[in-house]
Amino acid sequence: MAFTHVCFWTLLTFMLTWTVFYVTNRSKKATKSEDAAPEERKDGATDVLIVGAGVGGSALAYALAKDGRRVHVIERDMKEPERMMGEFMQPGGRLMLFKLGLQDCLEGIDAQRATGFAVYKDGKEAVAPFPVESNNFSYEPSARIFHNGRFVQRLRQKASSLPNVRLEEGTVKSLIEEKGVIKGVTYKNKEGEETTAFAPLTVVCDGCYSNLRRSLSDNNEEVLSYLVGYISNNCQLEEPENLHLVLCKPSFAMLYQISSTEVRCGFELFPDNFPSIANGEMETFMKNNIAPQVPPKLRIIIKSFYSIRKPMSATVNILGNAFSQALVASTDEAKEAMRQGCYDYLTSGGFRTSGMMALLGGMNPRPLSLIYHLCAITLSSTAHLLSPFPSPLRIWHSLRLFGLAMKMLVPHLKAEGVTHMLFPANAAAYRKRYMAAATAL
Ligand SMILES: Cc1cc2nc3c(=O)[nH]c(=O)nc-3n(C[C@H](O)[C@H](O)[C@H](O)COP(=O)(O)OP(=O)(O)OC[C@H]3O[C@@H](n4cnc5c(N)ncnc54)[C@H](O)[C@@H]3O)c2cc1C
Repeated sequence: MAFTHVCFWTLLTFMLTWTVFYVTNRSKKATKSEDAAPEERKDGATDVLIVGAGVGGSALAYALAKDGRRVHVIERDMKEPERMMGEFMQPGGRLMLFKLGLQDCLEGIDAQRATGFAVYKDGKEAVAPFPVESNNFSYEPSARIFHNGRFVQRLRQKASSLPNVRLEEGTVKSLIEEKGVIKGVTYKNKEGEETTAFAPLTVVCDGCYSNLRRSLSDNNEEVLSYLVGYISNNCQLEEPENLHLVLCKPSFAMLYQISSTEVRCGFELFPDNFPSIANGEMETFMKNNIAPQVPPKLRIIIKSFYSIRKPMSATVNILGNAFSQALVASTDEAKEAMRQGCYDYLTSGGFRTSGMMALLGGMNPRPLSLIYHLCAITLSSTAHLLSPFPSPLRIWHSLRLFGLAMKMLVPHLKAEGVTHMLFPANAAAYRKRYMAAATAL
C-alpha cells in the first residue's frame, strides 16, 4: 500500500513538473516571437537614427543622407534655439562645414566675419590675427560669429531638404538596449504618444545636458565654470572683426559682434562664486566687478547703447507721451486750453511749426529743444486761457494747466534719466554723425 502511494505521488509530481516546464517554455517562445515583431522594423526604413537636431545631429544627418543613408532624426524642439553657445565658428570649423557641403548655412543669418582676437590685460592690449599665409590651411582663414539658433535652423532646413532624411519632433525618453547593443529608442512624438524607433545604428547628439549618454558612459561630469552673458542691441564695436578677450578677474570677459547691430558680452564665473540673478546680485556684480575691468575703449561702445541713443530716444518718447495726453478732448478747461495751444502752436507756421515737426519727425535729437517747445506751448496756452483778462477762475485754470504740463514732462524726464538725456557723454559726436549721415543721403 505504502509502495503504491509512493509510486502514485512520484508520478503525479513528475506530471506536474513536466506540465509547468512545458507551459513556461511555451510562454517563453511566445514572448520571443512577440519580440521578433520589432526586429522586422529594425532592418526596415531607417539606416541611422539620430537623437537631437542641434549642430552635431543636423550636420551628421545631412552628411549621412548625402552618402545615401536613410536617416531618422528625432528632435525635442523645432523652434529656433535661443542660447549662448556655439556662436563663434573658427576657420577650421568653416573648413569642415565646407567639406560637408554646408557652408551656405552661414549665409542669410547676418553672420559676422572675425579675423582674430584683440586681447587685453592690465591696461595693455594686442591683436592676434589668424595666420593668413601659412600652415597649408586650404580655406579663407577667418571665423564667423552668429546667433547659434539661426545657424541651427539653417542646418535643420538643409538636412530636411534631402528626401532620405526624416526630421521628426519628439522627445527621446530612453535607449532600447539588448545584450549591450543599442537597438533604438523610445520617444514621445508630437502628438504625445509614446512610441519606438529602431535602426542598426543610433547616434545620440542631445547636447551637453544629455540624459541619455549617462547610461552609456561613466564619465563623471564636473561643472568647472559658467558662462554668463547678455546682448547689447543697436551698437557696433569699434573693431568688429576682432573677438575682444579681456583677461580680468576672476576669469575673462568676451565681447564680439554677434550680428551687424548686436554685441555679445559674456564672462566666465565659477560655481563657488555665482551671484544670484533673481535677486539682482548678478547685476551689481557685473557693474561693480566686471565692467570696471573692461577697457575704456570697449566700455564706451557698450555705454553707447545707453547714452548715445538717449537724446534721440528720450526726445521722441517724451514728445509721444506728452502729445498722447495733451491731444485728448476734455471738458476740463485747463486740458482743453492745452489742446488748443498745441494746435495753434503747430499750425502757426515759421519757427514754431518747423521746430515741432523736426522733433516729431525724429530729425532733431536735442531734448533741450523739446523742453523749449513744450514750455512755449504751455505759456501760449496759459496766455490764451487768461485772455481777454485774468479772472480768479482763469488764473486757477492756468495754474492747473501749468501743473498738467509739469506732470507730462517731469516724470518722463526722470524716467529717461536727466543726466543721460541732457548731458550725454557723446551727444556732440552722435549729432555730428547723425546729421552727417542725413546730409550724405
Ligand atoms: C557655453 C558654451 C559655449 C560654447 N561656445 C562655442 C563656440 O563659441 N564655438 C563652438 O564651436 N562651440 C562652442 N561650444 C560648443 C558647442 O556649442 C557644442 O559643441 C555643440 O553645440 C554641440 O552640438 P550638439 O549637436 O552635440 O548639441 P546641441 O547643439 O546642444 O544640440 C542638442 C540637440 O538635442 C536636442 N535634444 C536634447 N535632448 C533631447 C531628447 N531627449 N530628445 C530629442 N532631442 C533632444 C536639443 O533640443 C538640441 O536641439 C560651446 C558650448 C558651451 C556650453
